[in-house]
Amino acid sequence: MSRYRCPGCDYVYDEAQGDEHEGYPPGTPFDQLPDDFTCPDCSVREKSDFEPLPD
Ligand SMILES: [Zn+2]
Repeated sequence: MSRYRCPGCDYVYDEAQGDEHEGYPPGTPFDQLPDDFTCPDCSVREKSDFEPLPD
């Protein structure tokens, strides 16, 4: 499981935790998020903008 950070607002998507508020259950891989995924916090940055974080 990896984590991915929004470069705009520092929101972190953690695959192990998902984001249940947004409808992504724990364990949802980042690459299975919809292609039109945008950052839940800033709504500006898109999936392709997110940066993988080291473990
Ligand atoms: Zn953001």
